[in-house]
Amino acid sequence: RLYNEVQDLKGNIRVYCRIRPFLPGQSRKHTTVEYLGENGELVIANPSKQGSHRLFKFNKVFGPTATQEEVFLDTQPLIRSVLDGYNVCIFAYGQTGSGKTYTMSGPSISSTVDWGVNYRALNDLFQLSQSRKSSIAYEVAVPDASMHPVKSTKDVLELMNIGLMNRAVGATALNERSSRSHSVLTVHVRGTDLKTDTVLRGSLHLVDLAGSERVDRSEATGERLREAQHINKSLSALGDVIFALAQKSSHVPYRNSKLTQVLQSSLGGQAKTLMFVQLNPDMESYSETISTLKFAERVS
Ligand code: ADP
Ligand code: MG
Repeated sequence: RLYNEVQDLKGNIRVYCRIRPFLPGQSRKHTTVEYLGENGELVIANPSKQGSHRLFKFNKVFGPTATQEEVFLDTQPLIRSVLDGYNVCIFAYGQTGSGKTYTMSGPSISSTVDWGVNYRALNDLFQLSQSRKSSIAYEVAVPDASMHPVKSTKDVLELMNIGLMNRAVGATALNERSSRSHSVLTVHVRGTDLKTDTVLRGSLHLVDLAGSERVDRSEATGERLREAQHINKSLSALGDVIFALAQKSSHVPYRNSKLTQVLQSSLGGQAKTLMFVQLNPDMESYSETISTLKFAERVS
């Protein structure tokens, strides 16, 4: 096994927090982030109550200046463990606009420095698989799942472009749609353990979750309200599953949502889970930030 470092990490669930920078036009003065520690500490200040702070601690905290490459490098050993036959799930959780898609896919795919975790992961796995006689199958799952064999990163990029275009068709409301749906990219890897000549099968799930924001009941009605309730239900079901796994509980409630059913074989057992908890530093996001961090604290 080449990637022992993964096994040395305590437990199979880890949580990384990433705080996105202020966007042009946002006032920098109004941040809730008071302190970022080297060892995963994060202090959030309550903007409407002077001197009121909360401390959180995660496996890692990436500040606003962290690059896509830095974030990927801390994720790479986990990703590489799929070649050793592990199932790995990587999630991005947070309110709409907090940087989930930026972390998972990046702001654009035309420039490789912008690439998020998913393109970098695939690129890395292809490169490694060549030296390790593994093969990779590519699959886009949920919704409208289809599976396509791929031979190179270029094949994957082409498929992803088609996927992005499909998503964008007719949709001025693309952002609306993506914030109300989970996007799951699944990669299956078949490798050979060269020492024992046995086949190793691993999988990597890359999940850009729907926005975690609470929808105001007084504003949302009908379809919109049902949709919001559905999202909240699937996110809390995911939280319940990861919490049960972290507690080593004998009952893990996979059946409470489609999302957790789909990912069941890759959550728990020998599987490894990484949650990126995304934060918007703006003061106006304070209450969403706290509820995001509470969700993360529960599963970490
Ligand atoms: P989400 O998917 O959570 O709704 P996005 O990933 O679309 O959020 O990010 C919202 C905006 O913030 C986008 O314009 C994105 O490019 C920008 N952004 C997010 N994270 C970063 C970052 N780390 N550095 C620079 N810009 C970022
Ligand atoms: Mg998004």
